[in-house]
Amino acid sequence: MRVGRPVKALPHPNCDYCGAPATLARAGDEIYPYRDNHGSLWICVNCQAWIGVFPRSTRNVPLGRLADARLRELKAKLHAMLEPLAQAKVRRDGCSIFEARAKGLKWVTQQIGAELAEKGSIHSLDAEQCEGAIAIIERFEQERSGYPSDSD
Ligand SMILES: [Zn+2]
Repeated sequence: MRVGRPVKALPHPNCDYCGAPATLARAGDEIYPYRDNHGSLWICVNCQAWIGVFPRSTRNVPLGRLADARLRELKAKLHAMLEPLAQAKVRRDGCSIFEARAKGLKWVTQQIGAELAEKGSIHSLDAEQCEGAIAIIERFEQERSGYPSDSD
């Protein structure tokens, strides 16, 4: 029998924009982009792109791909659009909000033909996928409300 534990490779993400290895930063570090503590972040300073780590991860496993300003904005918008759908599902089906969020995200990513990473997180989507998902929800809302679209 072997003695000692195998050394796990640390996840060390590369920037999705320039390909350079990201740097792990903690609140208070010079390159840390927020004044408040949002937990550790993998950052590409050149691209001003970053992603958080799983809250209880001792190995600083990234939540998904690094996100630049545009992708951060799109993720926030998509999240804000999914949240009322998730809350409606909780009221209707009595499931947990976590389950409702996961199912909502899965539904919309299936609609755009995207595959979620194993954790099923919004952070695995890129900007185009976020835009596609936002368009799907907008269309869904429009159809459901029954009002004619005045955009075309
Ligand atoms: Zn970069």
